[in-house]
Amino acid sequence: MKWWENQPLTICAVQCNLGDDAFWVLDEYVAKQGFNTEQCLHLFTKGHFATYSEERHGEKLDQYLARSREHGLRQICYYNTHCVEEAPSKEHPEWLQRKADGSPLEAYGVCNMVCVNPRGPWHKQYLENIRALIKHEIDGIFLDGPVMRNIGCYCETCQKDFLEKYGHPIEQATRLELQDMRVNSVTGHIKETREVIDASGKEILLYLNNSALRGDITGSNTRKLEPYVDLLGAEGGFYRPAPGNSIWAVTVKSKLLETIGKGKPVVNFFAGNQSGTAYYMHTAAETRLTYATSYANGANVWYGIHGSPSMFKDSDGAKASKEMNKFVLAHKFLYQKSHSTARVALMWSQDTANNYGASYEATDFTEQQVVTAKEKGDHYGELLSFADMLLRNHTQFDIIDEYSVTLEEIKKYDSIILPNVSCMSKEVSEKLEGYVNAGGHLLATYDTACFDEHGKGLSASRLAHVLGVCGKAALRTSPDVGYMKATRDSELTKGLTAPLLPNPKLNLEWTLAEGAEALFVSYWPLPGCYVSLPEKTYPALIKNAFGKGCAYYITGNFANFMMTTYANADYPQILRNFIAATSSPVVSLEGPGLVEAVLRKIDSRYVLHLINKTGAMARPFTDIVPLHGLKITLSLDIKNPVLKTTRGGNPANLKTKGKKLSFTLDALNEFEVIEIR
Ligand SMILES: [Zn+2]
Repeated sequence: MKWWENQPLTICAVQCNLGDDAFWVLDEYVAKQGFNTEQCLHLFTKGHFATYSEERHGEKLDQYLARSREHGLRQICYYNTHCVEEAPSKEHPEWLQRKADGSPLEAYGVCNMVCVNPRGPWHKQYLENIRALIKHEIDGIFLDGPVMRNIGCYCETCQKDFLEKYGHPIEQATRLELQDMRVNSVTGHIKETREVIDASGKEILLYLNNSALRGDITGSNTRKLEPYVDLLGAEGGFYRPAPGNSIWAVTVKSKLLETIGKGKPVVNFFAGNQSGTAYYMHTAAETRLTYATSYANGANVWYGIHGSPSMFKDSDGAKASKEMNKFVLAHKFLYQKSHSTARVALMWSQDTANNYGASYEATDFTEQQVVTAKEKGDHYGELLSFADMLLRNHTQFDIIDEYSVTLEEIKKYDSIILPNVSCMSKEVSEKLEGYVNAGGHLLATYDTACFDEHGKGLSASRLAHVLGVCGKAALRTSPDVGYMKATRDSELTKGLTAPLLPNPKLNLEWTLAEGAEALFVSYWPLPGCYVSLPEKTYPALIKNAFGKGCAYYITGNFANFMMTTYANADYPQILRNFIAATSSPVVSLEGPGLVEAVLRKIDSRYVLHLINKTGAMARPFTDIVPLHGLKITLSLDIKNPVLKTTRGGNPANLKTKGKKLSFTLDALNEFEVIEIR
């Protein structure tokens, strides 16, 4: 087993050198804050930008590594692979990424972006540096970048490379060809780095800042890079705790990376300071909750500060980080390699992220309507909104992608949600069809599968026959207010608070296929707020039995509309009803407050993570409202379970019935971790 596997990592990152002595930083901050690993940048810089140079840093590195060993710390070297400062830019103009007009691409106002094309001169000298670096007794390399911006690259190497690969000059390139070229450059650059490390025969961890829930706009495609890295990481913890910002960023990014990693460890990059405000730290409560959320979702924590340790090591945030590092390392048995217990999946579509927005305006959506930019769905927003509703319901779910859908393992899910997955290949639609045919359940929204994987509009949804619709869709938009209603009592109407519900803003009117049923209908758009309801309706929520399974199709942009426009209590209830009707619950939790509940499995044990996000409806979190008397029911496959809490909670009224374990937790402060064996 490699050193970074099957144990929690607490990674320290001091992201600058503003005058603190490097060895003082090591002795007084890194070693005393409870970290077991350092990702070291400050040794190689004055300021915030660092690139390793054997000549300038080699000797100092050896001394630093020796001192680190005395502290029992692993050392990962930071390497900037996306930009260079002014002096090297002038000395090596051939290293730089260039725009179509030949001018270099700038970064941060003081640097220039480098072109990582593996056939280019920057990459070649970089590999020499890496060869020199791995001769030292380091434990890992972190690559900051690489980034190939979406307005490049027109450097000499890329121009030549493009002509050879695509058979025409780069000036005639299509958007997809340029995207493909940038992704190939980044992938080739990392692949060759991996080969150099492997050739050394040393156990050296390689990782970088991966892209998660984002199109390939930086050339970094996580599925393509995964084979060459040991740890997948994303900046879920670089955030500003503004009231409107998602409290689930760490959770959703960790979930997607866990899926892509196929068992490789994941790390959440957590800036101890507020993102973009290098010298203002997070509160203690924000810090503890972000730590607890990361580990709960199977991700290690990388804790970075962007100011001097001498100034910030005694801040509330840094002290909370120290407390959490020590807690995690004192409870390693709770943070070993673990597995999700989800029976529901939410699908992320890289094709939609890459190709839907760009092509939509130029594409006729149907014969009747030309869709304009403001009528586009929003896959990312729809996914986040579904995630929010699922998390508030304590539903255990994974985030999967196109590649996952092609694997046998999707059979383990009772239900799959397709949040406005507009772009879909034939292969993916056929796999989803097979999944439903074999007994699976789908919930799809708006224009799911109405475009091919490259963003070209199709005459009908690729999943039309599964979703129970036929013919061509007409776009129906509610300029202001609209309503929908149930056509009868069904499995989806339980617990609704009102007979009329707000209708999504963007809707497709379809003809029902034979055998399909509209469980809800939308009223024709209203001309204003205070008018009587129109008589005309069209299907809003369609149920279609297909093979041994069943598909539910909401023809509007349901979840995103709910989060951004007309928040209401009934859409989450419809989703809860869908989950209850199609999937057996893994975790249920009764009680007020906002609690993230994650049940994970480690061999034959379970670990239940409860993170209390009940604040005063304001960010940043400063004081969390303690919760009392939470009623928890878990679905487990162990007999006579024994519970052990780690943060002072007392489980009472334990009852087991079949595979169900229920108990009451007397108190939940910020978080609790319960081992069940
Ligand atoms: Zn280039």
